[in-house]
Amino acid sequence: MKHGIRQLFIPGPTNVPDRVRRAMNVPMEDQRSPDLPELTLGLFGDLKRAFRNESGRVFMFPSSGTGAWEAAIQNTLASGDKVLMARFGQFSHLWVEMAQRLGLDVEVIDVEWGKGVPLDAYEARIAADADHEIRAVFVTHNETATGVTSDIAGVRKVLDAHSHPALLFVDGVSSIASIEFRQDEWGVDLAVAGSQKGFMLPAGLSFLSVSEKALAANHDNRPKMARSYFAFADQIAMNDQGYFPYTPPTQFFHGLRAALDMLFEEGLENVFARHHRLAEGVRRGIQGLGLKLVAAGPQWYSDTVSAIYVPEGVDANRVIKIAYERYDTSFGGGLARLNGKVFRIGHLGDLNAVMCLSALAAAEISLADAGAKITPGAGVAAAHAYFREADAPVLVER
Ligand code: PLP
Repeated sequence: MKHGIRQLFIPGPTNVPDRVRRAMNVPMEDQRSPDLPELTLGLFGDLKRAFRNESGRVFMFPSSGTGAWEAAIQNTLASGDKVLMARFGQFSHLWVEMAQRLGLDVEVIDVEWGKGVPLDAYEARIAADADHEIRAVFVTHNETATGVTSDIAGVRKVLDAHSHPALLFVDGVSSIASIEFRQDEWGVDLAVAGSQKGFMLPAGLSFLSVSEKALAANHDNRPKMARSYFAFADQIAMNDQGYFPYTPPTQFFHGLRAALDMLFEEGLENVFARHHRLAEGVRRGIQGLGLKLVAAGPQWYSDTVSAIYVPEGVDANRVIKIAYERYDTSFGGGLARLNGKVFRIGHLGDLNAVMCLSALAAAEISLADAGAKITPGAGVAAAHAYFREADAPVLVER
């Protein structure tokens, strides 16, 4: 018999706030009712606010984030199109694999895991592409496997510096609604997000926020990739009326309404500042334990997830198993080449400082049980010190 709360420190799905869970607990309803658009049209508008996309539009698909990856590609590119992608973790790897499976001519720049988008290499490649053969440039904003955030504004600068017309695709699954994302300002043409991370919902809904340029690319007269379920034209025809070309997950929409209200009530800037503070506290804790992050330096640090190397001779999977079985705590595992070497702490979504302290405490006790030579309490103490200092001005204001 287990008691208390099973703690979730994986980088998605994240904790679903009670307010969101309660909002979803409604009877099944008629998806063609005359009043559904009152709910859905507001959601489309507010999702645009969350993405900071004034001019374009947002699609919602009943899929996980991977579906929106596919929708983005199928709707704007043709088989054989040349695209530029960087691979620096398991999720950027999987997007490359999808692009290849869909028949794109993918030029991959491999980067050491722990770093993010290589602006110099992108610049060199874009500068050399005088004939504009590259039709799209892809970036994983936040590589969840390594805890690395990339500079999207920097990629836009590279494209602009060479007046290059490539579409800019961004995977924001583990960044959007948690850390700063400015679609219009950064000239992002297709931005992908999922419901189960910063949006604090269960998995199962994906968001694809597109620019006017991406919409134009969807119906220019170049031959395109075959598409059906995700076809923009079918979505637009129905979405404009507040409906969908299939049976939509209406309960999700009530949850999304509550989640967006929570994000806007807190204020997006405050949401981002909170994520930074919590992430920094966790990082101080990791440092206090003498452990190293996969992220190769502060410019790559992710404010939504930390990937942490366990000490030499310790099996990270054992740490994760102990945390789950003995201490009711879930951490993320090391993916692909990081398997067994790394555990991950997700610090995004509906989270506060004491929850992060408890993640560190669970990490310490599980590491010690797995044979790591750490000083129990050292991580928690370092995080305490930071949170007391970082939160002090807020306490005084209250
Ligand atoms: N991209 C990133 C950065 C992710 O973290 C994930 C999932 O964790 C995905 C894509 C895939 O999203 P989903 O699992 O929702 O299909």
